[in-house]
Amino acid sequence: MQTIVEDVREGNGAAIAQAAEIIRAGELVAFPTETVYGLGANGLDGDACGRIYEAKGRPSDNPLILHVSDWHMLKQVAKDIPPMAEKLMTAFMPGPLTLILPRSEAVPDKVTGGLDTVGVRMPENPVARSLIRVAGVPIAAPSANRSGRPSPTTAAAVLRDLSGRIPMILNGGPCRYGVESTIVDCTEDVATILRPGAISLEEIRELLGDCRLDAALRGEDAKPKAPGMKYRHYAPNAPLTVFVGEPEAVAQAILEEAKKIETAGKTVGILGSRELLRKLSDVVPSATLQSYGSQGDLATIASRLYACLLAFDGLAVDAILAEGVGEQGLGLAIMNRLKKASGGHVVCV
Ligand code: AMP
Ligand code: MG
Repeated sequence: MQTIVEDVREGNGAAIAQAAEIIRAGELVAFPTETVYGLGANGLDGDACGRIYEAKGRPSDNPLILHVSDWHMLKQVAKDIPPMAEKLMTAFMPGPLTLILPRSEAVPDKVTGGLDTVGVRMPENPVARSLIRVAGVPIAAPSANRSGRPSPTTAAAVLRDLSGRIPMILNGGPCRYGVESTIVDCTEDVATILRPGAISLEEIRELLGDCRLDAALRGEDAKPKAPGMKYRHYAPNAPLTVFVGEPEAVAQAILEEAKKIETAGKTVGILGSRELLRKLSDVVPSATLQSYGSQGDLATIASRLYACLLAFDGLAVDAILAEGVGEQGLGLAIMNRLKKASGGHVVCV
């Protein structure tokens, strides 16, 4: 199958109409959202959703999020909207927030993995919104990457993973946030974050008065309530180790580890802040450095994280050492992705 890439950065009604036609015909289209690129199928068509699992190589027990363009569509797929969900919808939708709600009968089992709940999101990206509106159906869309790999934040990254496996990619330029949506379970008495994202725990607590983190995110040895969160995820080819602690101590620990790797005759990649890389560039000149932005500029770090991880694949390093960030605000989502990408290989210094 040949994959067509259409540029929609300046708007392109004809390409969006063609993409909507492909979705209605039961095939797949990759499209931009404000979080990461999504791989979309008609969310009311179980066979079409099945194609998402095939194209991504995704485990079949990992449910899909339904993307809607308006409240009417949202109400079609949810049986009930609890008061806490109403509040979250009013405050943060459209935007990078997914709500777990009781499912309606219209939602096929392929979307929910057999659960009696459904994940729903209303993206704010104008291309995503138009595509859903023109298709006239909710669009089921996970991230548009091969399962386990870093999520794509550009059309080029989608093409690298899925070329020849899907008919069409809409190129809307780089994604604004760069990490997946915050997932909030609204089916129990207290709202619970199942996956941290651009809408922070602090913002949700301020709105609702109370919000928990899923036990698996609190570092407890519990099964994650979002089935997808149990898999190794977001991983570049080379093994990755994350270092957390005071900046000076982290710099020292990364330096020592980098020297050890190079002494063993291997190549090392270092991912971190501009400030860290400035310190290290003279002392480990042979290391491959990727800056994710300035220390503390969490919005930039989130938006560049996956592109940096993917860049290391092209640079063929044997090992990657990454500087962690504090877990406040957006930092919780960044650290969640880094920990997953490392398969839990985190060094506290
Ligand atoms: P992705 O599609 O890559 O953004 O991943 C979607 C995430 O949402 C996965 O971690 C899923 O396990 C999670 N998810 C989707 N639907 C549900 C649901 N009904 N209950 C809990 N988690 C869900
Ligand atoms: Mg994903």
